[in-house]
Amino acid sequence: MKVAVIADVHANLVALEAVLVDAGRVDEVWSLGDAVGYGPDPNECISLLREVARLSIPGNHDYAAMGTISTDDFNSEARQAAEWTGTVLSEASRAYLASLPETIVEGPATLAHGSPRSPIWEYVLSVPQAEELFAHFQTQYCLIGHSHIPLAFALPMPGVAPPKPWPPPQEPLDLAGRRWLLNPGSVGQPRDGDRRAAYGILDTETASFVYRRVEYDIAETQQRMRRAGLPERLILRLDSGR
Ligand code: ZN
Repeated sequence: MKVAVIADVHANLVALEAVLVDAGRVDEVWSLGDAVGYGPDPNECISLLREVARLSIPGNHDYAAMGTISTDDFNSEARQAAEWTGTVLSEASRAYLASLPETIVEGPATLAHGSPRSPIWEYVLSVPQAEELFAHFQTQYCLIGHSHIPLAFALPMPGVAPPKPWPPPQEPLDLAGRRWLLNPGSVGQPRDGDRRAAYGILDTETASFVYRRVEYDIAETQQRMRRAGLPERLILRLDSGR
């Protein structure tokens, strides 16, 4: 089975549509949270995710927009975006987000927005931290988002820190024989210095994961953000992917 693994769409409908076109005829789409926050099209993104994503979990920005968690730990632009999102979110969108489980176990994969230990909040960025987390899920893979950085950690770990760029973009990462923590990167708000939308394709039959990057019409998303009155810094960072 081929699965498009998407995370951190952040209400960027133009990017989400481009990713779904690129993914083509995958068997399933799994969404790892933060459907909204930052971007201009929260309800449209949720409608599309409801249609295409068989599995879906919430992220901290989804909870912030719903008022489920406080935005005290957010920077001021993220807080402004969360407040704006909260004012435009439809009842149907709220009901959808409220219905999502924080983690899902599906065949060989566990899905968690942040980490399997702290699904809503924990950022997984270092090898020692990742090593601890393998005790917190039972499946062969754990799929995560939240950091907006495409990453792969394996157990047993490679003997050295992963060279850059790693994992290799666009070529299949062989998952066989090891356990993995995999982050496909962010669809709608990439933060690794590559402005293109990021997502991954998990193939459960060949045990491989492909990191993909997709061009989309950034100017269109930026225009919609300006129309919505979203903070300028969030608009500009789409240009750099940082
Ligand atoms: Zn996010």
